[in-house]
Amino acid sequence: MLYKLLLFLNLNLRKLILILTILSVSCLFLVSLFILNYVVKQQLIQNSLSINEKYSSKIATGVNRDVSNMLQELQYSSKQLGQNFSSTSLRQAEVKRLKNQSNNFNSVFIVDQKNHIVAYAPSALGLKFYTPYTTLGIAESLKIKKTYISAPYWSSVNNLVVLMSQPIYDVNQNYKGFISGTIYLQKKNLISEMLFNQFDFKKSYMYVIDQQSRIISHPDPSRIGEKIINNSGLNYINENKNGSVRLSNSLEVDNLAGFAHVPSVNWIVVSQQPTDQLLEEANALILKVSIGIFIFYLFIFFIVWRISHFISSPLNHLAKMASMLSKNGTQDKISQVDPWYFEVFKFRTSLLLSSKAFDKKVSELRQHINIDPLTGLYNRRGMQYFLDELISTNTHFAVLAIDIDFFKKINDTYGHDRGDEVLKRLALLMQQNFRSHDFCCRTGGEEFIVLMMTSDVQIAFNVAERLRKSMQASQVDEIEKITISVGIAFWPIDSKDIKQVCRMADNKLYEVKNNGRNHVRMTQNLPKHN
Ligand code: GH3
Ligand code: MG
Ligand code: MG
Repeated sequence: MLYKLLLFLNLNLRKLILILTILSVSCLFLVSLFILNYVVKQQLIQNSLSINEKYSSKIATGVNRDVSNMLQELQYSSKQLGQNFSSTSLRQAEVKRLKNQSNNFNSVFIVDQKNHIVAYAPSALGLKFYTPYTTLGIAESLKIKKTYISAPYWSSVNNLVVLMSQPIYDVNQNYKGFISGTIYLQKKNLISEMLFNQFDFKKSYMYVIDQQSRIISHPDPSRIGEKIINNSGLNYINENKNGSVRLSNSLEVDNLAGFAHVPSVNWIVVSQQPTDQLLEEANALILKVSIGIFIFYLFIFFIVWRISHFISSPLNHLAKMASMLSKNGTQDKISQVDPWYFEVFKFRTSLLLSSKAFDKKVSELRQHINIDPLTGLYNRRGMQYFLDELISTNTHFAVLAIDIDFFKKINDTYGHDRGDEVLKRLALLMQQNFRSHDFCCRTGGEEFIVLMMTSDVQIAFNVAERLRKSMQASQVDEIEKITISVGIAFWPIDSKDIKQVCRMADNKLYEVKNNGRNHVRMTQNLPKHN
């Protein structure tokens, strides 16, 4: 299956390099994305937790300082009132002063031991004097008779409040009641101003809870006074008091929270940021960086693409050459390939060697086909090859038809093997007699043709005569005188048709045979000598 796919892809070195590059660059890109995603998000989460922790701590310190100041203000007043608790004007002056001096309290009032409010500010509250009030803050404060800070509760005039009070003791240390200030949790107050006037850091928000996990302050006023449940980080916050935690809030929204304790009131300030909100920004950042990385990898891919061409093209060229070793000019083309690295150099060298060896083999093979094994002369096929060559180059030549006289008789008398010896001897004499660019051929049993590179009748005759004589003079074993007859015609002097020229040479040979043999006859007359 895989093999078929590979075949279908028609792979070559360059494609392989490119596929490998695409694979590795994609893997790198994915791994980079994964790491980037993890690192950036983790870093942002850590940053957010740490910022929220610092932020809540800063606010907690501020709240603690303010609450301590408020308690101190109340304490100062309680001391003044202890000097002269029965003075209505002093009581009224104190509540007014406290209410207006710092504007820390939303309301200030003094309660005697019988739960009666004996002074209050602002007067707009419209409270009744000498009427017992038993709201939580009043009841508890009277009971404790010490510095007291209430849990959130609904006041008699329907405000959700936190009450702070200081006991009033007269000079004889008799308990007289208390002076208290309230903070209206659902209205603009000291704490809410501190919490919500702060710089809005990436959708962070803050809230304050008391030790019973009731909300003292929150950006959503409707949640103030509510007891927090279903907050996955609440236990951790209550146990640790200061720190940071990733939590799921009561609305099941994942948040990154920092928290800090306010020791004076035992409250905890929580600053938190929705994780999604943060990560949304992270995603935008990651997208930007990814595009940058992608462009960078694209650039790498482009470079590899260019280099792959550089690497693969010499091998590709050589591979193409390998399938056409027999073609002309292949060796030149192979030599032109630049062997700039080891494999190409080796491949090129061996290809060149095999191309040369191939050439040699081919020419050897060609020779085998064209050469007569007995005499080593060209056979009829070889002769035809040279005839074509001579005619196409318009080279003038003479055709010599040579035949051994009474050869049948030699065979009969001395045997076929001896006959063969005679044939070989004639061939040897021919090779010695003619020049290397004349073509000596054995075209039949004991018939020979020489293609002699001359149009000179005299020269042709002389050389034929010389051969005839040397054959006559030659002794093969015990065989008596062996002679040959020769007929000569000329191309293109006799005819432009080579077949016709061959026939004319044969005719001249027959003429010799019919006229006593052992002679040379030509179609042309010898020039007359002066
Ligand atoms: P002529 O003078 O008229 O040429 O008489 P001849 O006997 O030579 O007659 P011809 O040229 O027709 O002879 C052909 C003989 O050559 C027939 C055959 O016995 C012989 N011959 C042909 N091929 C070979 C060969 O390869 N080896 C040998 N030993 N003899 C061959
Ligand atoms: Mg013959
Ligand atoms: Mg013969």
